[in-house]
Amino acid sequence: MKLPDINILDEADKVLRTKSFDVIFPLSEDDKKLINDSLDYLEMSQIDEYREKYDLRAGMGLSFIQLGIPKRIFVISEEIEENKFNRHVVINPKIKSKSEELIFVGEGEGCLSVNREVDGIVPRHARVTIEAYDEDGVFFEIRVREDMAVAFQHELDHLEGILFMDRIDKKNPFKNRNLMREI
Ligand code: ZN
Repeated sequence: MKLPDINILDEADKVLRTKSFDVIFPLSEDDKKLINDSLDYLEMSQIDEYREKYDLRAGMGLSFIQLGIPKRIFVISEEIEENKFNRHVVINPKIKSKSEELIFVGEGEGCLSVNREVDGIVPRHARVTIEAYDEDGVFFEIRVREDMAVAFQHELDHLEGILFMDRIDKKNPFKNRNLMREI
């Protein structure tokens, strides 16, 4: 497998703060290629052999705005067994419902645009139901929980120009820890 040639913006880039726009179907061939390249990249970043070979950081999600394109498209690569992945292409998503229960990732969230460790709690809903369209413009609904719920909410934030550390309390990064479940 060859590493796709994609350029992921760094947090210093103000383009990441852009609110993305709804996409009109059908997608262009360029957009379809970028979706495919992004998923290939995410999969390779989660496979030890490629991660070492290309010196990658592991990531399971990527939004088009991280590639400098303000379209409401993100992809998530979900490892279902060792080196086997489910591909999720999520376009023009809307949150249909969300659990009251909140969770946070104990070791901290990561982002391919943030090349440093950031400590603190990023509150996320434990379960969310999303409505969206796939790359062929077909409507679907998906209910996700735990780490997948975190990944979806993290990517939904990118579409609004929000980065995960924006959600960490500046004065007390571990505020309200007792009100949430650690995953
Ligand atoms: Zn991110």
